[in-house]
Amino acid sequence: MRISDKPVAARLAALGVEIRPGIALKDLTSLAIGGTTDELLIRRYDTLPDVMKVLKDEGIPHKFLGGGTNVLIADGELPWVMLHLPPAHPGVRIEGNAAFVDAAADLGGTVTFCAKHDLGGMEGLIGVPGSIGGALRMNAGAYGTQIGSYVREVELYRAATGLNEILRGDDIRFDYRHTSFAPGDVMLRVKLELPPKPYKDIVAGIRVCNEKRRASQPLNQKSAGCIFKNPPGASAGRMIDELGLKGLRVGDAMVSDRHANFFVNSGQATCAEMLRLIDDVRARVHEKFGVELENEVIIWKN
Ligand SMILES: Cc1cc2nc3c(=O)[nH]c(=O)nc-3n(C[C@H](O)[C@H](O)[C@H](O)COP(=O)(O)OP(=O)(O)OC[C@H]3O[C@@H](n4cnc5c(N)ncnc54)[C@H](O)[C@@H]3O)c2cc1C
Repeated sequence: MRISDKPVAARLAALGVEIRPGIALKDLTSLAIGGTTDELLIRRYDTLPDVMKVLKDEGIPHKFLGGGTNVLIADGELPWVMLHLPPAHPGVRIEGNAAFVDAAADLGGTVTFCAKHDLGGMEGLIGVPGSIGGALRMNAGAYGTQIGSYVREVELYRAATGLNEILRGDDIRFDYRHTSFAPGDVMLRVKLELPPKPYKDIVAGIRVCNEKRRASQPLNQKSAGCIFKNPPGASAGRMIDELGLKGLRVGDAMVSDRHANFFVNSGQATCAEMLRLIDDVRARVHEKFGVELENEVIIWKN
């Protein structure tokens, strides 16, 4: 979608929004899949309510992208614009055992920044790529750690009120790869409370997690991590593996031969190919195990 109307572009520019026309989203996603649209960089968090109002008044549909590591985006010209926060380096401020982190900050970078201030707890999250905003939305987790456990406050744009507000951690539900944020909410900053821990102990924990990840995941291939959520008490990857589906392909979309719940783009895969592969694997798992797998990857169709 293109913002071709000059007065609309001028209203957005006055709110500090940079419009980048015709961006190929395959360049912004870890799967390297995704069509083309205008990208709107929100440079000033305080203007978000006004930006959203302009988009609503003008009937401009939009999606919000973080690090692009958990999304599968449709091919071709997309019927919505992409909102994005500019990168924040490091985007973290420490006060006592609290870390105040910008949503655009890198999750792994935040874990190591906090480690250097002897604040631990998040070692398990070290290899989860993407932004803090995406991690909050997804309640990212690994090796027994989930980000939600450390959240004390979230500053966000709330779709329900059209305002930037602060939510207390206790008022947010963080479940397995699911949170109580509304679909239109935009995370802006978070306050994390972390347990004090010596740097060398945190680094030792990080090494263990990195080794586990390297041993089991196709980290040098283009993926979005796990495609399906694990059903209660079961492993989606194990079921797919038991069906012998590692290496199954639709075009360049392929079930990883290292980790059966990682689907990779082995070349120039399209969204259509990846969707067919996902549907095929889901159907086979259902037929054999009677389990309907739920997507972990967020799919944005046309
Ligand atoms: C190799 C690999 C390994 C992975 N391993 C894990 C793992 O162990 N555990 C795990 O949980 N995940 C894992 N993932 C998936 C992914 O990294 C996480 O879900 C991550 O938290 C997504 O963050 P992101 O910034 O990339 O979000 P995106 O992919 O950009 O977006 C994901 C969702 O979050 C929303 N979103 C992003 N930013 C904001 C914001 N500021 N406000 C509101 N909504 C927002 C988007 O609209 C979208 O709905 C892995 C992915 C890869 C590629």
